[in-house]
Amino acid sequence: MSEIVISVENLTKKYNGVKVVDGVSFSIEQGTIVGLVGKNGAGKTTLIRLLTDLVKPDSGTVRIFPGQSISSTDVAAIVERPSVYNDMTAMENLRIQSTLLGIRAENQYLAQTLCVVGLDPNLTKKAKNFSLGMRQRLAIAMTLVGRPRLLLLDEPTNGLDPDGIRQVREILVKLNQEMGVTIIVSSHILSELSKFATEFLLMDKGKILRQISAEELNNSVQKRYRITVDKTGVAKETLEQFGPTEIIGAEQVILTADVSATQILQTLAVADVNVRALVLADDSLEEFYLQSVRDSDNGGGQ
Ligand code: ATP
Repeated sequence: MSEIVISVENLTKKYNGVKVVDGVSFSIEQGTIVGLVGKNGAGKTTLIRLLTDLVKPDSGTVRIFPGQSISSTDVAAIVERPSVYNDMTAMENLRIQSTLLGIRAENQYLAQTLCVVGLDPNLTKKAKNFSLGMRQRLAIAMTLVGRPRLLLLDEPTNGLDPDGIRQVREILVKLNQEMGVTIIVSSHILSELSKFATEFLLMDKGKILRQISAEELNNSVQKRYRITVDKTGVAKETLEQFGPTEIIGAEQVILTADVSATQILQTLAVADVNVRALVLADDSLEEFYLQSVRDSDNGGGQ
């Protein structure tokens, strides 16, 4: 078993008498990318603030790298607005971060760090003139100055366009796979997290409803196919043998079933239906999350 990087027990935080984090317990193993998933107001930011010691809990404990001696640079975080110095270039931002952390990071390491997040170390533009995506990537670079082993990011893709979201995703995967950084990343865009998280913490009304690995999730959700065809009526009738089907618009059929794409294509070919596109819908995490919320509302959950 991998070493534990975070162990949380019975963590509770109240604001105005309301438990916004409510008796939360979980542990995270080294090397994972944990997607903290929840609707707006679920308590994700508060949980990350508790994990990073920005707020104190009313009760419960957070242990970071339990049993190990750690340095202050082992953990880095972006919570809410990233702190970037507007009147400085990317490289100057990293240098000042290094000074603030009390470390002497080599210029070469700082330049490499900027390259990791796709920023040119020689860029003379000041941060105030960066696009939102560039700012966010700079903020991530700033968290890397102290070579953290654990990174906590609260909604790092908020407000970014699809390309910016993809860039952040690629950076996080690279940090995890090439540098072994354990990452906890929150988002309410579940389909985005499902593209790269290796584990999920599903949160609602201050509670962790489920902790589930990406593999378990894949095995426990039914596949949903979106199929574009020339004859929706025939396609629906033909595919109903596999599971529930639904016609969407003039040319699409949705099939929810545990069958392979090849089986679908072969069956439709026999029925003389032309298939123009077949896509596996990526909303399985969303469905699973909503089902977990319903189960919890009906008396289940942690
Ligand atoms: P979002 O995705 O909208 O940021 P979230 O899951 O991160 O949501 P939190 O920001 O943790 O949720 O908020 C959870 C609840 O706690 C909300 O109802 C919020 O209003 C409340 N809350 C958070 N911080 C404070 C605070 N400092 N004082 C009072 N209430 C707070």
